[in-house]
Amino acid sequence: LTQRLTSERSTDEIGRLTDTFNNMIARLETSFAQIRQFSSDASHELRTPLTVMKGESELVLRRPRPVEDYIAVLESNLEEIDRMSRIVEELLFLSRADLGQVKTECEPVRLEALVEDIQRQACLLGQERGVDVIMGTIQPATVRGDELRLRELILNIVDNAVKYSYPQGTVDIDLLVEGRTARLSVRDHGIGIPQDAHKQIFDRFFRTDDARAHTKKGTGLGLAICAWIAEAHHGHIEVQSEIGQGSTFTIVLPLAPPTA
Ligand code: ADP
Repeated sequence: LTQRLTSERSTDEIGRLTDTFNNMIARLETSFAQIRQFSSDASHELRTPLTVMKGESELVLRRPRPVEDYIAVLESNLEEIDRMSRIVEELLFLSRADLGQVKTECEPVRLEALVEDIQRQACLLGQERGVDVIMGTIQPATVRGDELRLRELILNIVDNAVKYSYPQGTVDIDLLVEGRTARLSVRDHGIGIPQDAHKQIFDRFFRTDDARAHTKKGTGLGLAICAWIAEAHHGHIEVQSEIGQGSTFTIVLPLAPPTA
């Protein structure tokens, strides 16, 4: 695949065909490199919990121990199994999405009602870490789409904001209408994201070093799923973030056309 066509005269038709061909090869090479990277990342992410479980089980079985030790290992194994299940579920979703097999409803969804509902759920998530989830300005905004998927998208972004906050932090949610779009922003004051990683965080399995040090909870797949859901609704996600200061994720979605 490293073969390239060469042509002396790049302005003639053969020259243009050569350029097109070479561009296609370059794109294929990038795709293959991404697939290789993805397989390597996926194997690594699944091997780590397996290694932990094997190590802990072997150690506890080496000699007789009080029952509490066995319980501790089983509990830890269960956590690793939960993590692996989450990775596999999320990977299955993404591969079905790649194959065009994920169906999305197209119903009117009132974002303000959805956000209110999610805030209640998010407060429970926040309580564990002493993080407050606060509603700021919430304007009515109706979009067309799949309520369950949109719920998953918003919850994922809010869950990240809580997860990457410092203890006793706050997460602010605002929903604003600008022109024909709804802008749902989720702001935290947590660990932040370095500038050069703003694009990569949407790649499968990418996690910043700070995020890995901050929490073991996380698969690196959530934002890839969020980006897919936003795009399936003809929207996108914007990121503003500074390291150590916090991050704002804004979900931008087109409003439903007004009913006649
Ligand atoms: P994870 O399960 O690791 O949270 P995501 O795909 O949801 O995976 O996010 C990818 C990475 O983006 C995270 O590991 C983290 O490095 C970064 N990230 C996402 N949201 C935030 C946030 N609110 N604050 C800081 N970093 C974040």
